[in-house]
Amino acid sequence: MAPMTAEDFMRLAIAAARDSQTPFGAVIVKDGEVVVSAGNTVRSDHDPTCHAEVNAIRRLMHRLGQPSVSGGYTLYSTCEPCAMCAATCFWAGIDHIVYGVGSNDFADQNPNRIAIRCEEVLRRSPNPCQISHGVLREECKQLHQDFLLD
Ligand SMILES: [Zn+2]
Repeated sequence: MAPMTAEDFMRLAIAAARDSQTPFGAVIVKDGEVVVSAGNTVRSDHDPTCHAEVNAIRRLMHRLGQPSVSGGYTLYSTCEPCAMCAATCFWAGIDHIVYGVGSNDFADQNPNRIAIRCEEVLRRSPNPCQISHGVLREECKQLHQDFLLD
């Protein structure tokens, strides 16, 4: 079987977003395999911190029984992580973030955001992780049309 590609992982993040009925989904990958996936559960959990990325990281750390990892984990997110999620990736020890659509690209559909780029948050950390973007960008952007936030 061919190894999974970045597009394959992003498709699973998109599926997690659709499952949560929001534009936001994330998966965490290690050694070429998805270890956890999560959608945004802010509304169902009545918790403003339950963004997809934070949910995925919580799930991973619960499973591992530790507060952070020391490398080898990539987080795929349908949308650019917000400042909270970018910082959580730092605290968690995620060393590569891959996002589909940039926050500037969906600002018209979702103006309710803190206008600081993921790259900016991570650049100010002592050990900046790698950041990639644009994987399945159009599909990720479409999620905002499909699940309009009110
Ligand atoms: Zn977030």
